Amino acid sequence: MRRAVVLGGSIAGLLAARVLSDHADEVLVLERDDVAPRGGFGSGQGPRPGVPQGKQMHALLDGGRRRIDEWLPGFATDLIADGAALADTGRDLHTYVGGRRKVLVDGVEMISATRPFLEAHLRRRVLSLGNLHLVHGRVRGLTFEGGRVSGVRYTRTFTDARDEVVLDSDLVVDATGRGSRIDNWLKEGGWPEPETRSMRVDLGYTTALFRRPEGRHDATLAQSLSTTPDGRLRLSTLGRVEGDQWIVLIAGYADDRPGRGSDEFLLRCKQDPAAAFRQLAEDGELIGEPVSYGHPENRRRDFHLLDRFPAGLVATGDVLASFNPIYGQGMSSAAMHASCLAAYLKSGQSLRDPAWSYFKDAGAVVDDVWQTSTRNDLRLPHVTGPRPRGFKVVSRISDLVDRASMTDPVIHRRCLEVTQMLTPAKTLMRPGTLLRAAWAVRRQAA
Ligand SMILES: Cc1cc2nc3c(=O)[nH]c(=O)nc-3n(C[C@H](O)[C@H](O)[C@H](O)COP(=O)(O)OP(=O)(O)OC[C@H]3O[C@@H](n4cnc5c(N)ncnc54)[C@H](O)[C@@H]3O)c2cc1C
Repeated sequence: MRRAVVLGGSIAGLLAARVLSDHADEVLVLERDDVAPRGGFGSGQGPRPGVPQGKQMHALLDGGRRRIDEWLPGFATDLIADGAALADTGRDLHTYVGGRRKVLVDGVEMISATRPFLEAHLRRRVLSLGNLHLVHGRVRGLTFEGGRVSGVRYTRTFTDARDEVVLDSDLVVDATGRGSRIDNWLKEGGWPEPETRSMRVDLGYTTALFRRPEGRHDATLAQSLSTTPDGRLRLSTLGRVEGDQWIVLIAGYADDRPGRGSDEFLLRCKQDPAAAFRQLAEDGELIGEPVSYGHPENRRRDFHLLDRFPAGLVATGDVLASFNPIYGQGMSSAAMHASCLAAYLKSGQSLRDPAWSYFKDAGAVVDDVWQTSTRNDLRLPHVTGPRPRGFKVVSRISDLVDRASMTDPVIHRRCLEVTQMLTPAKTLMRPGTLLRAAWAVRRQAA
């Protein structure tokens, strides 16, 4: 390829750009926020308008960490050297269900850091590749020629739409996130829009940063799942992040969303059945105000089901699917989409044809992640569907495996490998796992 253009310079866009740098003379990353790293490392590292979820807790799962390390060797080591926490789930991730601690297992590792810190490190590494450049501008649409996308229309200023510029491109990657306008762009070019599926979950998120006296903590990462007396599920997570700070998230659904303000935030921490949160509310000092975020629904776009699509265009990251964020799958999914893109480009298929094999592979990744997260979401009383076929049976089996994971280290580890995106969800349905889970639950009863 002579030139590839990536729309959106966040996690998915940067990872796609890294892959493309092996296949194109020039890769341009078009981003509407001014994210150019300037001078010292502190710049371009704060929250930004184009990524409104950036102030919320973000953990990088083991599956994503390993893939990013493949594309950018030493990425995780650099993050940790600069202050991110590496949590071994066997030692450091304390999981409590209703205040009871899950059995410890030998670890898979995940990274705890603030989202802007993680993204700034990724950007710095990706932009250091010679044939890759950042372009500051807002995408307005695509240009089409014959059966393919031939370029991107964008404006350099945000006030004057007459300032439109066209960038010719051999391949365009849409990584503009959940709010992508790709459906409109396709429609404008006379192409069908992908089918969109959604599941309403009505999740409320609030995150705050804390400072703590040295040594006054027992967990690098802790997660607490509890149910209120009237049956509503609550989730709290805390983690050490760069700068010796602690990030804490509390989440609730429907009319149990956490409210705004520091008093309510601290009260929820103090009421948590897990000791790690109560201790933090006691000894921690809040930095600034807690920040809230609403996630109304999970959403996916099924490009692989279309029967007509232009060549020279693919989509990645949240454009393909965005899930309930409590499972932390988004950045790792983007890393897996990047691997699908690499496989497609290495296959030598002609760019004059639509990238069906890419969409098929990326669709399989989305299917697996969607299954894991929506299966859990569908167990919530206020989530009404749509329920897939066989949901009741699968749900009973998942309950059994979940219960067994409280006390059986082998089952807990297998569950972690799925939730950390190291193995596909279907591995939990293997007869050996189910038999072992049934025994573990029997022993608990005894
Ligand atoms: C509350 C919350 C918590 C989350 N927690 C986690 C977590 O713990 N772990 C995890 O892995 N994932 C988490 N996620 C998901 C994660 O944020 C995303 O999956 C991840 O950022 C990948 O997104 P992306 O790069 O596809 O899109 P985004 O990060 O949304 O980025 C889109 C980019 O496109 C740019 N853009 C948009 N439109 C235009 C345009 N017209 N022109 C130019 N540029 C444009 C934006 O400025 C932005 O830079 C969470 C999400 C939410 C909402």
